[in-house]
Amino acid sequence: MVIKKANYLISSPSVEKCPKADRPEYAFIGRSNVGKSSLINMLCNNSTLAKTSAAPGKTQLINHYDIESKASIKAATKSKWYLVDLPGYGYAKRSQSERNKWEKMIEDYLRKRDNLVNIFVLIDSRHEPQAIDLEFVNKLGEWQVPFTLVFTKADKEKPKALERHVKNFLDAMRETWQFLPQSFITSAEKKTGREEVLTFIDSCNKK
Ligand code: GDP
Repeated sequence: MVIKKANYLISSPSVEKCPKADRPEYAFIGRSNVGKSSLINMLCNNSTLAKTSAAPGKTQLINHYDIESKASIKAATKSKWYLVDLPGYGYAKRSQSERNKWEKMIEDYLRKRDNLVNIFVLIDSRHEPQAIDLEFVNKLGEWQVPFTLVFTKADKEKPKALERHVKNFLDAMRETWQFLPQSFITSAEKKTGREEVLTFIDSCNKK
């Protein structure tokens, strides 16, 4: 897939305030510092599109980006879709009332946003399975929201450790999940996994 255009559109405090749901939408979420902004920038070939680590946990807003893409350079038709940067979870400094607000906003968004095709749940590939990530994917199951996993920062681990962390996460999921979601391994640093994630989005757009 070739990204022709990637522009920041708007930040919304609630699903009701989000732009009109008139095109497919793909959202990204994960723990604070998981590499979400870096991944979004890498996917869009724009190093400044999403802010990296400016003020962790400060912006509790739903951020929409307006994307135009083509299946290949030669393809005649363009696809229009939204990329959504969601505020993540696991910020130590967030107060209980901020957490409650976050939870309501995210649950509302994920359950009510009709054009949401897939949510990419980012998992830091350097760690053993974290309860907070497993709890979040279990919530998605409860709400029946389609998701895929993205193991980030793959360049930071030796291949064997990377493989082990991915396997351990999937094994932990097997305890409650009958079918496992599709997963991607990415590195914003090395641009690994870019084509795979974009091809997945393109194939969903064609359905
Ligand atoms: P966010 O808080 O989830 O948006 O995370 P950021 O994208 O701001 O990344 C957090 C930190 O991890 C920053 O210092 C990034 O440079 C670093 N980082 C993010 N992705 C990668 C990656 O793929 N490889 C490496 N080596 N570092 C990364």
